[in-house]
Amino acid sequence: MKEIILLKYGEIVLKGLNRGYFNSLLEARVRRALKDVRGDFSFDYAQSTLCVYGDEEADYAGAADKLKKVFGIASVCRGYGCEKDMEDVKRVLRERLDGIVGGAKTFKCDAKRSDKKFPLKSPEICAVCGGEVLSARPDLKVDVIDPECVITIEIRDRAAFIHGRGEKGAGGVPVGSGGRAMLLLSGGIDSPVAGHMMAKRGAAIDAVYFETPPYTGEAAKQKVRALARILSEWCGELHLHSVSLTEIQETLAANCREKLFTLLLRRFMMRAACALAHKYGAGCLVTGESMGQVASQTMAALAVTDDASDMPVMRPCIGLDKDEIVVRAREIGTFETSILPYEDCCTVFTPRHPDTRPELAEILEEEAKLDIAGLLERALATDRFERIG
Ligand code: ATP
Ligand code: MG
Repeated sequence: MKEIILLKYGEIVLKGLNRGYFNSLLEARVRRALKDVRGDFSFDYAQSTLCVYGDEEADYAGAADKLKKVFGIASVCRGYGCEKDMEDVKRVLRERLDGIVGGAKTFKCDAKRSDKKFPLKSPEICAVCGGEVLSARPDLKVDVIDPECVITIEIRDRAAFIHGRGEKGAGGVPVGSGGRAMLLLSGGIDSPVAGHMMAKRGAAIDAVYFETPPYTGEAAKQKVRALARILSEWCGELHLHSVSLTEIQETLAANCREKLFTLLLRRFMMRAACALAHKYGAGCLVTGESMGQVASQTMAALAVTDDASDMPVMRPCIGLDKDEIVVRAREIGTFETSILPYEDCCTVFTPRHPDTRPELAEILEEEAKLDIAGLLERALATDRFERIG
């Protein structure tokens, strides 16, 4: 008997001709997720399921935890492999029953038989296994309608597998299958969630953090690094750029109307992020903006912000309430870090009465006072990036 982890593939099962490409990408993601887990792992793909086998040393619990963060996988199921022989199936079932059943009081057996030559049919396999469970654990009751535990017996080409219900996987499609995106990553709650949502839909992520030294300090940057590290558990390795906007902010403060500061600054962020995206092969920007959340996220403000970008700006949080974003931040593990206190470059120069209905003409008039190209070029010269994950 061998312990195994069964990874049920999600949406990629539906990908017709591209399926081979998606499969190999996903297998590469799985290998990467296991690179720091104890033990050597090997893989075998069949029937929309990737079987992961470990050696004697393998840390299966640690592996399952990592695999729950791989996009493209619908469920992660720890189980056992055995001979395609009912005596062996029954033996393993008896030995591992307590672990599979956990605290459940009711169960049903479910058999899947992809090897049609196997002498027993699915209902017969269920009957034999159900009887075995009841004789080993008379305290359990059968409930075929709404069981607390489903014990699945799969008879496949090369082996039989026994497992419980398994845990929900990360869903989505494999990272990298949907191109590359440049995430504007602040230290807040929303932007890490936005990055996670895009990675779930297959985007490889790079991130840029805009700092304003000395108004923002090392602690703020450390916080963004920590968020990028948590994101990388889901997205794989990412490049975190930092770009200083100090000269731009000071120039805006000295020359422009206060109520337009935030939007003028956001337009510079878009321009700088676009320049990095072009340079490093990203096809879109991603922000954590949500409609109406703050003054700079009204429809009119978003339109003015978009105008400064020459590539699509994805805002996956746009229709989420703050509390919905918080739920996601908790799920992905960024919330506790996001709420640590820090100075954000936007808050240092926040206007007292920001314009919620800006006119593009008015913005362009303010910008006419500035040497946009020069400011941008000097800001981009401060770009440094580090590999995270
Ligand atoms: P978040 O919680 O993500 O910081 P927010 O609700 O605080 O979002 P803003 O501060 O107005 O909203 O920023 C909107 C979006 O702009 C952020 O989600 C992020 O994508 C981007 N952004 C803001 N500040 C920065 C920054 N210092 N560096 C990089 N991106 C930023
Ligand atoms: Mg913010």
